[in-house]
Amino acid sequence: MRLLTLTRLACLLVAAAFLTVAGTARAADSHPNQLHPAQGYIDQAAAAVRSRPADSVRDAQAALKLLADQPNADLEIRARLLLCDHLSERDKAGAETEVARARALLPQATRRGLEAGVLNCEGTILETAGENARARELYEQAVAVATRAHDDEMLAASLFARGYLLGLQGQYATGLADLKRAQSLYDDLQLPDHSLTAMNGIAILYNRMGDYAQARYMYDQALKAQRDAGMYREQSVTLHNLGRAHENLREWDAAQAAFQETYDISRQLNYARGEAYALRGLAAVKNAKGDPNGALQILEQAMVLQRQTPDARLEAQIQLARGVALHRLRQLTASAEALESALKVFRQADSLNELRATYGELAAVLSDMGNWREGYAQLLNAQETSERMFRNQVDQRFATLKVEFDTAAKEKENALLMRENNANQLALAEGQRARNLQRAVIVLTVILAVLLATLAWHQWRSTRRMHRLAMTDELTGVPNRRAVLSRLAPLLLQPNPPSCAMLIIDIDHFKSINDQHGHAEGDEALKSVARELREDVHEPAFIGRLGGEEFVVVIPGADFDKAYRLAERFREGVMSIDTRRWLKDRRITVSIGLTMAKATGDTSSTMLQRADAALYDAKRAGRNCVKAQLPAEESEASAPMKPAQVGFA
Ligand code: GH3
Ligand code: MG
Ligand code: MG
Repeated sequence: MRLLTLTRLACLLVAAAFLTVAGTARAADSHPNQLHPAQGYIDQAAAAVRSRPADSVRDAQAALKLLADQPNADLEIRARLLLCDHLSERDKAGAETEVARARALLPQATRRGLEAGVLNCEGTILETAGENARARELYEQAVAVATRAHDDEMLAASLFARGYLLGLQGQYATGLADLKRAQSLYDDLQLPDHSLTAMNGIAILYNRMGDYAQARYMYDQALKAQRDAGMYREQSVTLHNLGRAHENLREWDAAQAAFQETYDISRQLNYARGEAYALRGLAAVKNAKGDPNGALQILEQAMVLQRQTPDARLEAQIQLARGVALHRLRQLTASAEALESALKVFRQADSLNELRATYGELAAVLSDMGNWREGYAQLLNAQETSERMFRNQVDQRFATLKVEFDTAAKEKENALLMRENNANQLALAEGQRARNLQRAVIVLTVILAVLLATLAWHQWRSTRRMHRLAMTDELTGVPNRRAVLSRLAPLLLQPNPPSCAMLIIDIDHFKSINDQHGHAEGDEALKSVARELREDVHEPAFIGRLGGEEFVVVIPGADFDKAYRLAERFREGVMSIDTRRWLKDRRITVSIGLTMAKATGDTSSTMLQRADAALYDAKRAGRNCVKAQLPAEESEASAPMKPAQVGFA
């Protein structure tokens, strides 16, 4: 029972220590907000955007279902933006619905930066429709909102969108600066997948700038990482872009392989836009390899797929490839029509490279039709666009070099700051850990001390109890024979021991009490005699039960007379015990044997022997009396002898 309590106490203390230590550890990285059940789905959906877009939609919709029961504006906006992102490539009206719903929720949102996400998706819808100028305005606003809100993730997304579009518009240097900033923000936020997408954007920009070799190198790098991370959707985009770089470098076999793989992955993902882009690439390869019929066939397929995806530039690119194929097949009017329709989009998007190619092809078609004037005009357009493009490329390359230089310098500076910051963080964390450890050690030490003290106290108490039990007579509660003798022995061993008396007190005819009244009554008689004797025994005298119905009293410092008087008082005291209640008319008497210690060299056992002999005398003298037996050197005659009396008065 006691052990159980102790164990329970120890458990409680250890639990308290654990809670203290755990508490201090938790304080370092506390998570005050409980997770909304939709949070997990949204995180999954965000991750799947780059690998399996269909899963992304499914998870975002699952999140919206949960949000219907337990509304949370921030999470719903995120879910709707994910859907908008997905639909912007596939279903313009659907994307517009989602983004409108997200915008309506903005007043309730706590994360201010989410407005940048809404602006980005609105921009993406416009960009996909070829309305680049309006798209850019929205991206500008998104960058401003995210900056004001100090929302780095939204800022990176906005910079990426703006940088990509700037690249499309021939502003390579500013585009590159945006994309590089986006990439480094993603790196800081430890979002490697996003960082890869930014790198892909940078490669596209190099491709546009005419640095195809650099672009090809970066695509290869990105592709490797995307393959390792299983980012299928991103792989299909990168492979397509790699195909474009090969196409620009006139590496037709490599281009074909890249476009073919884009097609295969896009089909697997049911990604119509990717398939259509891949088919456009494969058709361009067929054109280059002198198979315009093959090209046209593929382009038919591409056009069917393109109708499922609202992408003005893709449509224009298909028309450009169609125009080239039809030209080869001498279907000049149809070719010119296709090229004219492509021109409209490229002009609006100010996409110089494609514009130049389309002008050039159209000039040749018109010349073949005999329309020299118009053909010449288009040739001039082509030339002028070409010049503009090259001039721009040269200017931009200088500016780009500067961006790269500045970025490298900034990166170096950032790396230094990061290192310093990391070192500081490490030192802080180390300090915190040390403090936590110290606290834990203190708590555990206190617990250990309390435990040890409790254990020691229990040990001491149980030893005392055992000692008391070993030295006490269970029935009467007076010390037992062992206790009396162990107290007497040292008294007798003193160099000049004081005079010391010993009385053995034996109940007369005790057996008959047992016999007549029962053992229990006998026990009662023993207890009441012990109680009676004890009342008259005062320090330094001490009493004990020798065994059976015999008691012993040792009286250090008493001379014979005093001892004798005391013995008489005991005898009378016992006689006066009122036994009427349990022994009816019978009284208890005792016989007492008295002895004195020798001046020197006496022992407990010789004293006991003498006292016992004196007791025997008392019994023989008729009981209920005191008899003495003194050591040899003392005069026995001097002992006053009381007359024997009959027991049981
Ligand atoms: P005497 O006057 O000669 O001393 O006679 P007596 O009957 O007192 O002595 P005897 O030695 O013949 O008997 C002692 C009895 O005490 C015998 C024993 O059963 C009894 N006795 C011993 N210890 C206890 C005990 O703890 N409780 C009880 N009820 N009886 C005990
Ligand atoms: Mg006896
Ligand atoms: Mg007796």
